[in-house]
Amino acid sequence: MPHRSHRRAQFLLGLALAAGLTAAAPPAGAEAVRVEAAAMGSLFAVTAVHPDAAAAREAVDAAYAEIERIEAMISSWRETSETSAVNRAAGGDPVAVSPELFGLIRRSLEVSKLTGGAFDVTFAGVGKLWDIEGHTTRVPPPEALAAALETVDYRLVELDPEGRTVRLGRPGMRIGFGAIGKGFAANRAVHVLKERGVTGALVDAGGDLVAFGRQEDGTPWTVGIADPTPRGQRRREGGVFGRLNVSDQAVVTSGDYERYVEIDGVRYAHILDPRTGWPVRGVSSVTVICPDGELADALATSVFVLGPEEGLALVDRLRGVEALVIDDEGQIRVSANLRTLLSSEEDPS
Ligand code: ADP
Ligand code: MG
Repeated sequence: MPHRSHRRAQFLLGLALAAGLTAAAPPAGAEAVRVEAAAMGSLFAVTAVHPDAAAAREAVDAAYAEIERIEAMISSWRETSETSAVNRAAGGDPVAVSPELFGLIRRSLEVSKLTGGAFDVTFAGVGKLWDIEGHTTRVPPPEALAAALETVDYRLVELDPEGRTVRLGRPGMRIGFGAIGKGFAANRAVHVLKERGVTGALVDAGGDLVAFGRQEDGTPWTVGIADPTPRGQRRREGGVFGRLNVSDQAVVTSGDYERYVEIDGVRYAHILDPRTGWPVRGVSSVTVICPDGELADALATSVFVLGPEEGLALVDRLRGVEALVIDDEGQIRVSANLRTLLSSEEDPS
C-alpha cells in the first residue's frame, strides 16, 4: 500500500512540474560546468550553463564567492559576523546592520508571523540545549528548557527601518538562520550566475535546490528527493524517493534523517518546536516546491513543525507553493494542487 502511494506521488510530481515545460531547442554549443564545494556546514554543488565554458567556470567561482560572503555575514558561529554582533548585544543597545541582513531578518519575522511562530529566528536560545551534532545522551532537564524558552520569541526582535537597527529584547536571546540561510544563499548564487549571463543553473545548497533555466541540452533540470526512512528501518545509501523535472523552481527538503541525535532509542531531529523547546516528532520529511529558494527553505522547516494537517493547510493558502509531507510511518500527504492532479488521474472522466 504505502509503496503504491509512493509511486503515485512520484508520478504526480513529475506531471505537475513538467506541466508547461516543453523541450526547447538546446542553446547552440552550450557548456555546463559543475563544481562541488563545502559551504555553510554542508556540501554545495553549483552547475552553470553558458555558451562559453570558461565563462561558465568564472560564473561558478563568482557564485561561490557570493555564498562565502553571505556565510560570513549570517553565520552565528563566526565571531566576526553581523549576526554575532546582534547576538552579543541581546538585551542591550540596538545594532546597526547591513541592508541585506536587515532584509533577511525582516523576512524571517514575516515567516514567523505567517506560521504563528512555528518558524522562529530566535529558536537558537533553546536549540543550544539540544546538541544534535554532538553526543547528547540525555534530554535537557525541564527547568533548563523552561529557562531557555524565555529567550525564544520572534516578537521580541525589534527592527528599526530608519536607523536600520536590530535589537533582541532580552539578554541571552540569539538569532540563527539555520532554517532559511541556505535558501537565501542559493537565491543569491543564482542571482550572481544570471548576472554573468548563464542560461541555466542548478544550485544545490546541501540538498536545498534552486533551478534556473535549463540544462545544456535544453531540457529542464531533474532533481531527486531524498528517501526518508520510516522509523526503525535503515535507509539505503543515496536512496531517492522521487524525481522531478523543474525549471525556475526551488525544491527544498527538510528531513530528520541527516541530522538527529538518538537518546534511549528515540530519534530527535534538528528541527525544534519553538513553542515547547522539544524536537519535532512524527514527521520524517517535508519537501516544498516554489519559485523562491529562501521561502521554500523557511517553509519546509515550518511545515515540519506544523505537521501534515496544519502545514499543508498553510501551503494551500499560498499561491505557487506546493508541498509533500512524509510522516514517520512512511505515509505521504501532498498539497491540494498535487492532490487534484492525483484524483483526476484516478478518475479520468
Ligand atoms: P536542513 O538544514 O537540514 O536543510 P532546515 O532548513 O529545516 O534543515 O533547518 C534546520 C535548522 O534550522 C536547524 O539545524 C536549526 O539550526 C534551525 N531550526 C530548528 N528549528 C527551527 C525552528 N522551529 N525555526 C527556525 N529555525 C529552526
Ligand atoms: Mg529550512
